[in-house]
Amino acid sequence: MRKSGLQIAENPKGIDVEPIPVARRVMGIKPYVAVSSLDAIEARPGERAFKIDWNEATVPPSPRVTEAITNFLENSQNLNLYPVLNSTNLIEKLAAFHGLSEDMFLVTNGSDDGLNTLCTTFLDDDDTVLVAAPTYQHFLVFVQSRGAKVSRHYAPDPFKPDIAGLLRRAERIRPRMIYLANPNNPTGVIYDNESLAALLKVNPQTLVIVDEAYSEFAGTSAVNLLHTYSNLVVTRTFSKAYGMAGLRIGYAMAAPQRISDLRRVFNPKNVNVLAQVGAMAALDDQDWLEWYLDEVEQSKDLIKEWFDARGVDCIITPGNFFMVRVDQAPWFVRSLQEENVYVRDRSAMRGLAGYVRYSIGTVEQTREILERTGKVLAQSKQSV
Ligand SMILES: *Cc1c(COP(=O)(O)O)cnc(C)c1O
Repeated sequence: MRKSGLQIAENPKGIDVEPIPVARRVMGIKPYVAVSSLDAIEARPGERAFKIDWNEATVPPSPRVTEAITNFLENSQNLNLYPVLNSTNLIEKLAAFHGLSEDMFLVTNGSDDGLNTLCTTFLDDDDTVLVAAPTYQHFLVFVQSRGAKVSRHYAPDPFKPDIAGLLRRAERIRPRMIYLANPNNPTGVIYDNESLAALLKVNPQTLVIVDEAYSEFAGTSAVNLLHTYSNLVVTRTFSKAYGMAGLRIGYAMAAPQRISDLRRVFNPKNVNVLAQVGAMAALDDQDWLEWYLDEVEQSKDLIKEWFDARGVDCIITPGNFFMVRVDQAPWFVRSLQEENVYVRDRSAMRGLAGYVRYSIGTVEQTREILERTGKVLAQSKQSV
């Protein structure tokens, strides 16, 4: 069985361990502990498992994606060559898709790579980055690894936007950068374009990053604001709605000046050739995307109804995930694992006590997941 949990010996035998300090800006950062449920799932082969802890799509991508990749592997011997530099092949398609010029795109190794490149390019030591918290944790690591500071703005209600509060905080601290996942992970909070425009307008010296990892599900986007605001960067990914998380490909959109600044440090070979081929095929199959978005939408109705009927507090987000509030979140998550359903415990995040997050998939999957959830809820009733 593959072990994805890294095991690092404290003091490997027979090796002299010289103390080599890490860079000062990295000292305060703890290793990001990535916990994957894949090990647990593979330990129970032959059983139907639901990996709904990381908001990945719950089904494989469009068959056109796998077909394009298979064709590429069968017909061309190009794995020995570097990929198309800067993914200009994909950029051509993306420009047509979004109605923007090609110099407004940077294709990256997952959108994480874009977020990291933004931090490398635009942050100095001791700069401040304002984020609407709680939010996507990994972005904060990229900020800290540049020696910059994170300023977290917590809205009075974690499930509602607070543009007035954000504007006030921005005016006070004058951040170098503002980061909003829109809709936000894990709360689903969404800022409308009017609010975003206000933020962009009164902070012209601040780079405003709008992370649109879930934009397809929400049916909203800040892309139109790119025509007006050169301090806006929008990031997108093929990891969520397009079902290609394993391939690692995403992109950033911004004014040409911003993109050429990013290219100062960006490695043009960063995106692998299979991801490029897959992403082009995925864009070409919008019917598949519509099918998947529709399944997720229909699932949301079922979920809301199901939890409402049981008096359980359930928040359906505009993304492909929902939050439920339970009495003992760690116990609940462990019990669901017994049922081979892997969800994410978010109850330790400020303002989110008791909440666990489920990703949403197809209707058929949703019915089964709700049934298994019902077993766990029944157990929790018995134990009180
Ligand atoms: C999942 C997620 C990402 C990561 O996307 P990749 O393209 O796979 O790197 C980025 N931002 C948010 C808010 C996410 O939830």
